[in-house]
This record gives sequence, structure tokens and C-alpha cells, in this order.
Amino acid sequence: MSIRVQALTKLYGQQKAVDGISFSAEPGVLGFLGPNGAGKSTTMKILTCFIPQTSGTASVCGFDVIAQPLDVRRHIGYLPESNPLYPDMYVKESLGFIAGIHKIHEPEKRIATIIEQTGLGPEQHKKIGQLSKGYRQRVGLAQAILHNPDVLILDEPTSGLDPNQLIGIRQLILDLGKTKTIILSTHIMQEVEAVCNRVIIINKGKIAADDTLQGLRQKNNNNTLEQIFISLTGSN
Ligand code: ADP
Repeated sequence: MSIRVQALTKLYGQQKAVDGISFSAEPGVLGFLGPNGAGKSTTMKILTCFIPQTSGTASVCGFDVIAQPLDVRRHIGYLPESNPLYPDMYVKESLGFIAGIHKIHEPEKRIATIIEQTGLGPEQHKKIGQLSKGYRQRVGLAQAILHNPDVLILDEPTSGLDPNQLIGIRQLILDLGKTKTIILSTHIMQEVEAVCNRVIIINKGKIAADDTLQGLRQKNNNNTLEQIFISLTGSN
């Protein structure tokens, strides 16, 4: 199992952000949905070893996030919602920097492969600050997959992109999901239908649904995903 989460809870002071959730994931694209404040980012930050949980366990490729964080980081790629990048770095330079952190063997070769895979070719000699938002997302994705992780955590990777840019990034996610386990957080239901084979809906820190898209529809009178989302999480 690539991801295993059991009875995971996170408290920020008195605030319960994640409330005893359990799920597991294997290769494919898992949509991670829920209203703002539901606990999605907190769960993702725990899985990527950015913050510790309050209780429960989480593991990535069999490695525990608390006991074996270095092994977890080796097996996971993370594109945070804010996609922090260095605007003054050139695209290739930034990938070289990340390759150095991961001590990647033959970095030039790997960087060339990733530039090709993420469609960064035409923009590879530009500074990140000169790129459009779509290309900046590609750089974020390229950085996240440079060390060829088995698991990818993508927090709203398509927010703010125009329809043409959306199509490119979605195709990339679909391709990556053929071999990797991807957790994709998004508010765009069309995107879920386009790329996800399974969906977890989280609401107020708890799991409200964990099913295939087809299963979810069958259990909810064949309603649209948007209607199902609203009925499970309230209209707030
Ligand atoms: P989502 O990603 O689903 O929008 P989050 O995981 O960001 O949700 O947040 C879940 C809850 O935890 C929210 O109520 C949010 O305000 C709270 N929260 C998130 N980060 C912090 C923090 N660093 N300190 C205090 N509360 C936080």
C-alpha cells in the first residue's frame, strides 16, 4: 500500500483540524475534496512530514512519517498550494538546485527528461519570474517529480489556470497517475471527473465519503458530483 492513514488526528490548540481519519491509497489519482477548512492541507502536510500529527499513524510506501521521515521524503513529491518558487532562478537552475538536494545521479540527464515530460522545453531558458502561471505550475510539478517519487501530493495544482493551461496540467497528472499514487486536492468537480478514479470527501476533519466515482454516483441517486459534494458537506 503506497499510503496508509489510520485514526489520524491533528489539533491546532483547541481546533480539531483532522478528526480520526483512516484511508489508504494505491497507484492512480485519488481526488481529495472538501470545503475550505475541512482539513485537506493539514492531512497533506502530515503525509509530507511538514507537520506532526497529534495522534494516529500515517505511512508512505511502508515508512512511518514520524519514525522514518527521510525515507518518506525520498518516496514522496509535494506541490503545495502556494507553489513556492525562486523567481530569480532560471528554470534549469532551479531544477539543478532540487537535483542537488536529492543527490540525483546524472542530474543533467534527469533534468532533460523531466523538462521534456512536463512540457517545459520552450521555456527552459527563462527565469521563473518571467513565466506564466501555467508554466510556473509545470516547474512546481517538475520539482516534485524530479527524484521520481512513487507518491505525489498535489494541493490545488490547477487553481488560477486558464482552460488551455488546465488541459496540459491535467494530462500530465493523468499520465503520472498510471504509475504513481497521486493525492489531488481540487475544488473543480470537472477536474475530478477528468482525472480521478477514486474520491475522498472530507468535511470538518472527518471522511464523509471514500469511493470510486461510479460507486459514489450509484449511492447518491446518480446525482452530479457537485450535488453529491453539497449534500455531503452542506452548502457552506
Ligand atoms: P483545507 O485544506 O481543507 O482548506 P486546512 O487543513 O487548511 O483545510 O485547515 C483545517 C482547519 O485547521 C481550518 O479550520 C483551519 O483554520 C485550521 N488551521 C490550519 N492551519 C492552522 C494553523 N497553522 N494554526 C491554527 N489553525 C489552523
